[in-house]
Amino acid sequence: MVSVIKLSFHKRLFLLLLAFAWTIILCAIGYQYIREKRYKSDFISAQLQLYNKYLLKTIEDGLSYEDYILKHEQPFADLRISIIAPTGAVVYDNMIPLDLLDNHLSRPEVAKAMKHGTGYHIGRQSSSDGKEYFYSATKGERAIVRTAIPYSSSLRELLEADWDFLGFMISISLIMSIVAYFTTRRLGKNIERLNRFAAKAEKGESFDEDEAFPNDELGSISNHIVKIYAQWQQTIRDRDAAHEAALRQEQEKIRIKRQLTNNINHELKTPVASLQVCLETLLSGITLSDERRQSLIEKCYTHNERLRRLLADVSLITRMEDGCQLISREPVVINDILKDIADELDVMSDDMSFCLHVDCNEQVVVDGNLSLICSIFRNLTDNAISYSGGKNIYISLISNTEDMCCIRFEDDGLGVDAEQLPRLFERFYRVDKGRSRQKGGTGLGLAIVKHAVQFHGGTIVVTNRPNGGLRFDFTLKK
Ligand code: ADP
Repeated sequence: MVSVIKLSFHKRLFLLLLAFAWTIILCAIGYQYIREKRYKSDFISAQLQLYNKYLLKTIEDGLSYEDYILKHEQPFADLRISIIAPTGAVVYDNMIPLDLLDNHLSRPEVAKAMKHGTGYHIGRQSSSDGKEYFYSATKGERAIVRTAIPYSSSLRELLEADWDFLGFMISISLIMSIVAYFTTRRLGKNIERLNRFAAKAEKGESFDEDEAFPNDELGSISNHIVKIYAQWQQTIRDRDAAHEAALRQEQEKIRIKRQLTNNINHELKTPVASLQVCLETLLSGITLSDERRQSLIEKCYTHNERLRRLLADVSLITRMEDGCQLISREPVVINDILKDIADELDVMSDDMSFCLHVDCNEQVVVDGNLSLICSIFRNLTDNAISYSGGKNIYISLISNTEDMCCIRFEDDGLGVDAEQLPRLFERFYRVDKGRSRQKGGTGLGLAIVKHAVQFHGGTIVVTNRPNGGLRFDFTLKK
């Protein structure tokens, strides 16, 4: 199996930069080496040429070149001096016997001198003595003077490029390589993180690394991408949550509806059965006294009335639950409703008489549904009369701001056991079942109150009054 080694972005970038840097540096070193070598060669050659020229002048002046060689100081030790005739024959050599020397016209430095007047050649092995020399030849009218110095290690050193320069260039290269390593590593790290992020984003996972991207263009782009991704994820989470909540709400609605249907069935059973019995008795043809007949008809009426109320309450609750938007709204003056209740209580018989105390000095207007708001006060008042056992009802305005009003409804009766309080708003919940039915209650009164308050954007809480009786605090949005 062939395994492919995949280099990280950082390593690839670093190696690329390194290759570039070292190529440039090697080219610079090579160029400098050649330049230096040529300069130094020119320098040595210039010294030899000077000597050559003096020697040539001596020859051309007809003086003894041997005397000149002996008497004058030479520019280099071990200087080999050759005098070559224009034919190429060597006529003098201070180091090698002449019979060992062949025609020198083909020697590069001599050929150059013949062509250009001067010429030099570096590091050639002499065919005469086998040594390596640096040759420099100068052409005169009557001869060619060629001088040579052995191409010794010291000369080689002289010709070799300046090591200081090399050292300097190598140090610069090393420093550049280190800087390149850290720069590319930083860049590589960011790209790796971005890559990790992309992989996670592809799988829809969350990207929650604490470390922030650096403050550069790549970091800024990465930060933007991560932010957009986070926002997108948040939107999806919100959508899912909303979807889940809607689903839960829908399920809860279905559950409540099922419960309501069961409760309605249960509530209908008794009056329908009673109606059945009464009507069967009336229709059976048996002789009944007038009073008995009257009593049966009255019972039928009562049961029918109970059924009517039950249907009205159920229909109101269903309407509030299903069609909030279909229920109309208008400015409702709470003070007018309170006045109507006071009038109704005034005309009640003495033994049932209730005193209403209203503490509301300002006009309270709510944008709502008149019949629903009336049903809040009516149900609470009816309950106070039927169940509280008290004699007074207190309605007070607790607060009245631009968008909310808070109203307190109290009676001075017996109240309800603390553990029953949280269940009072449940549909068909009755504290005293017998008494409630006897009073014609459907068990839906407080459920209607709660729904009506919620329809008006408010909340309702029930507590026992410190001095006895029930206290309802509710708010209505204006
Ligand atoms: P219903 O429609 O049968 O009157 P409600 O939902 O209005 O039923 O009330 C639920 C129960 O709460 C009643 O059965 C009654 O026992 C109790 N209750 C309501 N109001 C009061 C009150 N002011 N004082 C004492 N008990 C009350």
